[in-house]
Amino acid sequence: MKCWICGNEAKTGEHKIKASDLRALYNDVSQRNPLYLHTDQRRNQKVGSIKSGKFKFNSLICPNCNNARTAPHDNAWMKLSKFLRGRNTAMKKGDSIPLEIVFPDTLSKSMLDVHLFFVKLFGCAIVELKVPYPFTGAAGYHNHLKLRTKI
Ligand SMILES: [Zn+2]
Repeated sequence: MKCWICGNEAKTGEHKIKASDLRALYNDVSQRNPLYLHTDQRRNQKVGSIKSGKFKFNSLICPNCNNARTAPHDNAWMKLSKFLRGRNTAMKKGDSIPLEIVFPDTLSKSMLDVHLFFVKLFGCAIVELKVPYPFTGAAGYHNHLKLRTKI
C-alpha cells in the first residue's frame, strides 16, 4: 500500500483517536482491563491495548509522514487537547477557548498545525472509506501541507 500523503511505501496506521487522548482518558488498559469498541459492524469488541490496530485507520501512511512530517501537527493537537481536558467546567454555547494561553508565542502557527492534524485524520478516513477525493490540486492534502512544509 502506498502512503496517501507522499506515495512512498506505507507501513504505519494512524490512530482514529490520538493514542495520547485515549491514554489520558483510560490510563490502565490491558487484556485484563480492556476497552470495548463499538462499530456499525460489531459491538463490544474487547481491546486490550491502546496500541491495538482496532483503534487505527486501515489506510496507511509511511513512517516519515506519520512521524517527522506530521509531528508538529500531532504535538499542537496534544497541547490543545490537554488544555481542553484540564478545564474545570464543561464548555457551553457561547464560550470561547483562550488559545493565546495555550499557544502564547505561536498561536497562528500552532492553530495551523492543529488544522493539519485534522486534515491528516480526514485524509486517512476518506482513503479508508474509498471516498473519491482529489488528493492533488487545490483541495488536496499536499496543498494544505504546503502551507507548512515542502513535500
Ligand atoms: Zn508518506
